Amino acid sequence: MRPLTYSRAAGIEDALALAAAHPASAFLAGGTTEVDLIRAGISRSEHLVDINDLPLRGVEDRPQGGVHIGALARMSDVARTPSVVQRYPAISRALLLGASEQLRNMASMGGNLRQRTRCAYLRDGVSPCNKREPGSGCAALDGLNRGHAILGTSEHCIATHPSDVAVALVAFDAVVETVGLAGERSIPFDDFFLLPGETPEVEHPISHDELIVGIEVPGAPIARRSVYLKFRDRQSYEFALVSVAAALEVDGGVVTGARLALGGVATKPWRARRAEAVLVGGPADAAAFRRAAAAELEDAVVREHNAFKVELAQRAIVRALSDSMDGRQS
Ligand code: SF4
Repeated sequence: MRPLTYSRAAGIEDALALAAAHPASAFLAGGTTEVDLIRAGISRSEHLVDINDLPLRGVEDRPQGGVHIGALARMSDVARTPSVVQRYPAISRALLLGASEQLRNMASMGGNLRQRTRCAYLRDGVSPCNKREPGSGCAALDGLNRGHAILGTSEHCIATHPSDVAVALVAFDAVVETVGLAGERSIPFDDFFLLPGETPEVEHPISHDELIVGIEVPGAPIARRSVYLKFRDRQSYEFALVSVAAALEVDGGVVTGARLALGGVATKPWRARRAEAVLVGGPADAAAFRRAAAAELEDAVVREHNAFKVELAQRAIVRALSDSMDGRQS
């Protein structure tokens, strides 16, 4: 048995001090990820700092049209917030398609961003895995890699990021707000999730005692007709093989704005900037959507079992863009 100690923070400064005092500590919010990882022997946390008393549960409308989401807001509460439903339907939909109702009621938004890949080799505790044991190798490269990534991979890790809502948030330029002993930081979503490169064990640019306190989603009129599509092996309680957050602005048949992001195919929530660049200024039709999708998947690196994702991702992008033309959630 491994000893595990626990403390309950009374405020943000208290939480930071408690975490700093315990080098092997982790913050505890909903517990839906960290507790699983501790039980499986994957997390090395020796001390948990419970942050559930911190005043970080609010979801506030911004006058300019954006939304601020507290880090402790529960997924189900955010999904039902009227301004989120109206201003960012893709965010609401991504939340509702993630996990079960019970998990959504417990899981916090900050914790959602920190959740770890579902790669079975990381979680079995014994296979070579550079994320769990740096330098040990990657069993997925030549193993059962059907669910693994084809974009943003390296020779050291091909695990996908599992979050749905992070895909929608990266499409709308959300920003992660953190507080640490050195002060406050605002980190763009695209920078918050690190590519595996040679150090797949480093997943975020924050230290263990830096606390996520909120997510700022800027106002984006384009997001009002956004969609989120998720393709998976079964209809519920399953992670994406491919998911797409999409929004288009069209004027006179010409695309004047595009937001596109992918889940289930990349090592991080994947902003499809190459596809966006192809779309803007071109016709809003299926042929142009196919060209954009092909451009985004051009650099895909496939393994023995996951080559099907290249075609599936392209079809999903075309479908999502077509649906977003009339704001229809499939
Ligand atoms: Fe570990 Fe990443 Fe390889 Fe999975 S894909 S075994 S998480 S290094």
